[in-house]
Amino acid sequence: MRVPWERVCEEATESLRSLVKLDTTNPPGNERLATDYVSAELGKHGIDAVVKESAPTRANLVTRIKGRDSAKPPLLLSAHTDVVPVEPSGWSRAPFGAEIAQGCLWGRGALDMKSKCAMDLVLMTSIKRAGVTPGADLIMAAVADEEAGSALGAEFLVQQHPDLIRAGYVLNELGGFTVHFGDRRIYPVQVAEKGFVTVKMTVTDAPGHGSMPRRKTAITTLSELIVKIANTPMRLRVTPLMRRTMTAMGLEAETAPDLFRPTLSNTVSATIVRAGYKDNVIPGEASVVLDGRTLPGDDPESFCAELRSIVGPEPSFELLKTAPPVEASIETPLFDLIRKRTEAADPGGKVLPWMIPGATDNKYYARLGTICYGFSPVKLEPTMPFAALFHGHDERIPIEGFLWGLKLYAQVVLEFLDLKFEDVFA
Ligand SMILES: [Zn+2]
Repeated sequence: MRVPWERVCEEATESLRSLVKLDTTNPPGNERLATDYVSAELGKHGIDAVVKESAPTRANLVTRIKGRDSAKPPLLLSAHTDVVPVEPSGWSRAPFGAEIAQGCLWGRGALDMKSKCAMDLVLMTSIKRAGVTPGADLIMAAVADEEAGSALGAEFLVQQHPDLIRAGYVLNELGGFTVHFGDRRIYPVQVAEKGFVTVKMTVTDAPGHGSMPRRKTAITTLSELIVKIANTPMRLRVTPLMRRTMTAMGLEAETAPDLFRPTLSNTVSATIVRAGYKDNVIPGEASVVLDGRTLPGDDPESFCAELRSIVGPEPSFELLKTAPPVEASIETPLFDLIRKRTEAADPGGKVLPWMIPGATDNKYYARLGTICYGFSPVKLEPTMPFAALFHGHDERIPIEGFLWGLKLYAQVVLEFLDLKFEDVFA
């Protein structure tokens, strides 16, 4: 039986409130709270879920609605259920209160990304209630640990349980929200993300006594190199994807706003500095951890060569961890559908493929050959910029924009699975 759309909107809002109230701050995570909730909601509609714990209380949930054609690649809907910590003193409402006020639902995770988890949940239960069969398998995953690097979440599933989540496509976070750019409205959709190369850079020099100062020590040399790195922009390189996106926005790489800069070159940030062990000893060694981010087309070797050209031959490099960049084709039926439906849902708005400078669970899903997009749509007014709310104080989501996004998301998912919105919703 078709499900009244109004009821679905109420359920989605209620699910989002319930999820926000569960404190899944990572660390420590405790995502079991969220998977227990999602699993119980699915169970009310006769949908079984598999829950895999990667560590005690660090749970990952996967469920699947079988499609008509098992030869067709499944569609995976993914959301992480952990959230970043809050500084309560910066909040004007309780961070886990899920209050509804001023047209918004307030709380950590309201935008990043329990809203999408709630959308995925009501979509699964609605399809089940409507009794329709999608054209291909539809998989939902609610995963742990994204905010701390995904080792106990998406990476764990990809390594330990790939058959649960193997899909042709995944819809994940960081796309489909309104960006007000001048008087234009843009809907970035994440199709690429940078890689990372984390390097420990160490400088050595003669140790000495603190009572006998020297101009050049391991600490002074390292300090100068850190400042030099910060003052030396890495080589500008516009990938074909970013070229296309910048052209569509009427921007030039050389004069692009700061927001774009990290997607136009490799980057490096000093994050941890270590030196010294005693008040009166000039140490013989000083080190810094450098958080390097690489564009598609670069690898750890080319990144280190570029870094070397800035810091010279002296300091030693130790690679702490690396992950390659990922980039998905936009010449796909799913991207076409995202574009068509989004631009119809906001006439005058424009979808643009986008590379994010950070990393998401897509980094791991891509290892299974899955085409990964960020699409968790929400309509935002100019007074509510996404970048300020994402991981910020007073994170909140406008209810109207959330329900606008839910409808758009449902249209895209259902049509991609050869169903119509009207097959499921009344
Ligand atoms: Zn997120």
